Amino acid sequence: MKKRSLSQISDLVAAGLVPADAAPALAPVAEAFRIRLTNAMHTAITGPDDAIARQFLPNTAELTIRPEELHDPIGDATYSPTPGLTHRYPDRVILAATHTCEVYCRFCFRREAVGEEGALPDADLTAALAYIAATPAITEVILTGGDPLVLSPRRLAALMQRLAAIPHVEIVRFHTRVPVVAPARITAEMVRALRARPTTYLVLHTNHAQEITPAAQAALAQLADAGIPLLSQSVLLRGINDDAATLETLFRTLLRHRVTPYYLHHCDLARGTSHFRTTIAAGQAIMAALRGRLSGIGIPTYVLDIPGGFGKVPIGPGYVQPSGDGYQITDWQGRLHSYRDPETP
Ligand SMILES: *Cc1c(COP(=O)(O)O)cnc(C)c1O
Ligand code: SF4
Repeated sequence: MKKRSLSQISDLVAAGLVPADAAPALAPVAEAFRIRLTNAMHTAITGPDDAIARQFLPNTAELTIRPEELHDPIGDATYSPTPGLTHRYPDRVILAATHTCEVYCRFCFRREAVGEEGALPDADLTAALAYIAATPAITEVILTGGDPLVLSPRRLAALMQRLAAIPHVEIVRFHTRVPVVAPARITAEMVRALRARPTTYLVLHTNHAQEITPAAQAALAQLADAGIPLLSQSVLLRGINDDAATLETLFRTLLRHRVTPYYLHHCDLARGTSHFRTTIAAGQAIMAALRGRLSGIGIPTYVLDIPGGFGKVPIGPGYVQPSGDGYQITDWQGRLHSYRDPETP
């Protein structure tokens, strides 16, 4: 029988994804950073160097650790009131319901936290829920991990029920890669578990249109048909999606499947990921090229998660420059216009 996922170098060699003579050099990579690739993604790979292969296959470049790279690049641990919970902004928390994912992305910002087997221990979950219940400012709970959709529908339904019992929790947001990397997990039972009260949003992590296979399309249709608002987040990745045409195709594909692009993340300073990083200037140029050329509903906000745990901020490009007693405004074709706030009556 075919294995459900590939998680050892030897699996990758057997599947023909890694040449046998490359395996020894990859052993230290596998030791440092977990490997996992689903059959759905394995099947979607068209060549050893394509956009999917580069995201999931280990590379010796990961052994290059740069001095600026961090164990906890976005400072999750700094703002953690209970294990598994991060409370950085007043109105919302991140709850890592599990540390496991269906795939391990080579650029993951939590690559040193993901991978431990299993769900958050029950005592930690109970402590996290008690903290949320005791903090009325929290109106939104963001379930991440790891990937929360690796949990069974039964477990997720139980968690949703416990969250629904907290009156000030209005929204539960799932951050997940599952509809794309393991679409078979999106069953009617899973959809039922997700759409239980309170209001559910789902943010899909996807980086290239090649990931949106027919099976992924069907999974997204099921979620959208159930009335779950779908958003996306992508990471700007060198050699994978760092050009306007590739991102335009991704965002158009997402819109067609009822997913609204939400965030484009500048690649975080996770250890061993420098080969994926671009510059902010390059990211801004791509975003500027998309403006006007792509429907406004297809343009995500380009954000940086400031290292050290200071949160996410939009990083441009900028269209407004103060000038004299007004502003100089750049239009989508790069032409300049002056604008002044009219006198307030
Ligand atoms: C990213 C993140 C959020 C969610 O931010 P949004 O801008 O609302 O998407 C919330 N809390 C933490 C700790 C985060 O890192
Ligand atoms: S699915 Fe998300 S959390 Fe899991 S390895 Fe990929 S980026 Fe990291």
